[in-house]
Amino acid sequence: MRGVRYFPIAAVVILGAASPAHPRAEQSGPQHANQDPKGGTKMEVRQQGEEWVITGRDCTAWWNPADGSVRVEMPAGPGWESKSNAGKELKVRAQGRDAELSLADASRKESEVYKTGYADGVRTRYSGFKSGAGPLDLEIALQVSIEKTTGELLFEVIPLRDPAGALEECRWPQPFAFAKAGMKNYTVLPCMQGCLIPSDWAQEWKGWYGERTCTRALYMPWWGQVRADEGYQVILETPWDGGIRVTHPAGGPTRVRPVWFSSLGSLRYSRRVRYVFYQKCNYVTMAKRYRRYAIETGLFRSLAEKEAANPKVGQLRGAAVVHTSILYHMQPESPYYNKTNPAANHQLTSFATRQSQLAKLRERLPETNIYVHLDGWGLRGYDNLHPDILPPCPEAGGWEGLRELAESSAKQGILFALHDQYRDYYFDAASFDLALAVKGPGGEAPTGNWWLGGKQSILCATQAPSYVKRNYDMLAEHKIFPGGVYLDVFAIADLDECYDPFHPMTREQCAHYRALGFREIRSRGMVVSSEEPVDFAVPDIALVHHAPYALVPNPEKGPAIGIAVPLFSLVYHDALVVPWSAEAPKGTWGIPDGDWGFLHALLNAGAGYMNIEPGDEELARNRALSQLHQRVGWLEMTDHQFLDDGLRRQRTTFADGTTVEVDFSARTYTIRYAGKTVHGPPEKAK
Ligand SMILES: [Zn+2]
Repeated sequence: MRGVRYFPIAAVVILGAASPAHPRAEQSGPQHANQDPKGGTKMEVRQQGEEWVITGRDCTAWWNPADGSVRVEMPAGPGWESKSNAGKELKVRAQGRDAELSLADASRKESEVYKTGYADGVRTRYSGFKSGAGPLDLEIALQVSIEKTTGELLFEVIPLRDPAGALEECRWPQPFAFAKAGMKNYTVLPCMQGCLIPSDWAQEWKGWYGERTCTRALYMPWWGQVRADEGYQVILETPWDGGIRVTHPAGGPTRVRPVWFSSLGSLRYSRRVRYVFYQKCNYVTMAKRYRRYAIETGLFRSLAEKEAANPKVGQLRGAAVVHTSILYHMQPESPYYNKTNPAANHQLTSFATRQSQLAKLRERLPETNIYVHLDGWGLRGYDNLHPDILPPCPEAGGWEGLRELAESSAKQGILFALHDQYRDYYFDAASFDLALAVKGPGGEAPTGNWWLGGKQSILCATQAPSYVKRNYDMLAEHKIFPGGVYLDVFAIADLDECYDPFHPMTREQCAHYRALGFREIRSRGMVVSSEEPVDFAVPDIALVHHAPYALVPNPEKGPAIGIAVPLFSLVYHDALVVPWSAEAPKGTWGIPDGDWGFLHALLNAGAGYMNIEPGDEELARNRALSQLHQRVGWLEMTDHQFLDDGLRRQRTTFADGTTVEVDFSARTYTIRYAGKTVHGPPEKAK
């Protein structure tokens, strides 16, 4: 349903805040000298008073173990400084109560130089915490180092000892101080497609989209802050149980820091975050740095690669994306049930009717790729009975009706895809067993009544791939081979944890099992899609439902959070097909108030949504989108720029030099292809 690491240790140990006047690190000679015979990069680690000084290629980091603060000196400019008064770093649960603790509260703080072949820095161990009246058996290590070849900072949180699973959250590194300076200073956030928060933004930050990675809060696990031309960027390298904490009172300033959440009840494993410092940058620089990270780590897989593995992916190029449905059925207990007009609770269109509509659409669009997404084709329609959705809706034509629709679509060159779902788990599904639902720490399964199909729980993702396999084996037995499958919510719903002893699961494992669901479909030569582009899914899927902008208070309607910018497109445009609305100017899901969604569709060079029986103007708008996507859909978006102080005129550039300029005030656009310029919209051109 839409909507919803360990290293060898070198050198010294210094106890606590009371440091000797001449610490050994300063005297220790060659191993801390300014050359690295292996890498040739200047690195130095020494102690100065309470602080440790780590000097790398591009900056010097001052680490203060006493209060957990960090100061970064750059060759020019004021540098960056975290504030120890920015809130406590640890949240613990002891004697049945939550408590906040500071690193400063630890009675033992032991620091030592630690060196690896790739980074040098300092490790500090914290222990001797107290919670309430008694001591708390907890020891964590924090590491601050500079990577030799990149000069980037690495921060690591390592839970060493927590036998009671007391540590619930660690919020470190601390936020950097960030002054109010209007649009000169802004925070870069991949909250949905992306936004910039001016440092003095008038609105108080309300945490509309939560804090976690792999959700709308962060389609991609990174963010940054820009101050005039300089800035820094944060990349969560252990994203699964991570997130962002933003504080921004009305009028600013903005403070951002990583949050590390517990996994199955404790911090459990080491967390690492990379900080990249720039002398000159903007949000595009940061998107491009993350694109490089995504390529290095395998998150990025281009559409060209996906097409090479499955030629059907090529049918998404310039495609008109048609969403249509068979049966919407509301169960009486569903919040969507219409009590005043019971007939509205069962809206049926047969497979044969959809087949003839698609045949007519093909006649009108003989040259255009068409992708069809079919909702509600299962036994009792949309969002009902999952995962036991077979046979296909008997009232609409059953096995035969669905087979004919799939076959006729394929014959007409239409890429025909089924909407499917393996997380919502309905009590009245034929094989339902609460034993297979996810369980919380007390063994309880979530239950609710959220969508059309009534009472449900959440299927543990460990079970999902086997249900996917069973259903597509059954469809194959009936000679039904859709061209694609959409696995609902797998890419967007929070990653689930499961405490069931028979199928325990961490959030990282949840992402793995969801990916296995995608791969089961892909292995059958079908094009895989899911809801929104949280980037763990990018390597496995070819398209999403949508990836528009974060609005206040939710994507249904409202102004943009800050200033909308296409961060996701700057990273992944050539890795994923993203359809956008090509509707007439009016409020659309994920489109900021006052903006025309069609112009965002063009600016992002996305595919275009189209009704199954489109009007002429819609067809004309879709043609413009299709032509653009046909040309640049498989190409990198290389730049985005604001062209006026009002930020209403914007331009994107693609790898072949094509530029798209839009004016949200005048509601016009200009596309400059090599040797050809197109002005729009088409309805004005008439
Ligand atoms: Zn489980």
